[in-house]
Amino acid sequence: MRIPPTRGTRTRCGYTGTRGVLRKHLADCSEPLAHRPGRPGRVPADAPGLLIEVVGRPKAYWLFLGVANDAKLTDIDALLRATWLECCDHLSEFVVGRTRYTFVSSPTFSFGPRPQSMHIQVGKVFRPGVPIEHQYDFGSTTVLDLSLVGPLPIALPSRTAALLANNVAPDFACGECGHPAASVCVECDSPAFLCAVCSRRHGRGHMLHRVVNSPRMGICGYDGPGAP
Ligand SMILES: [Zn+2]
Ligand SMILES: [Zn+2]
Ligand SMILES: [Zn+2]
Ligand SMILES: [Zn+2]
Repeated sequence: MRIPPTRGTRTRCGYTGTRGVLRKHLADCSEPLAHRPGRPGRVPADAPGLLIEVVGRPKAYWLFLGVANDAKLTDIDALLRATWLECCDHLSEFVVGRTRYTFVSSPTFSFGPRPQSMHIQVGKVFRPGVPIEHQYDFGSTTVLDLSLVGPLPIALPSRTAALLANNVAPDFACGECGHPAASVCVECDSPAFLCAVCSRRHGRGHMLHRVVNSPRMGICGYDGPGAP
């Protein structure tokens, strides 16, 4: 599926632009978070946080995350699941070169080098210029490409991973009448978009999922929420 490049907005200050423009802006924007995410009682971490870029496939889907230096890969995994991925509690992992970081210490399906635990601080894994893949669901896999943009100019509470900006949801048109699509049929040839009216007729025989702002739209049982 080809989708044209998308724009997005920094949630807090309202700055709008393409992914490249927002990347530059977020590396510089000192507007603090509206409310401090994470668990109560957390104090700001000593070290500056990290600005992390997440690009989906297709690339029209993207996120910028602010992550405390002492957050774990599990904290990023939880945010990616909540924003874009979670459908039926599939396994996931981060892949950095030949190293894999996973939940399971010695999975039976393992091949290649022994996987490491995802309970590792992001500051020990993310390095400038080192691409990191996140894979969710080893059947109908959703692959995301993560990279470190640089230090974050605002302080974050310890162990925080927060969504700072994301793409505006792409528009899809109903394949039958051209009105804005509300759902996507996962059984028709890839992918069949339908408006609310046409969905009712079409949905009698076929399984439909909501159109949501996520690269996992229409895959497995994924039905949102998707990014805002
Ligand atoms: Zn700003
Ligand atoms: Zn699933
Ligand atoms: Zn169908
Ligand atoms: Zn329609």
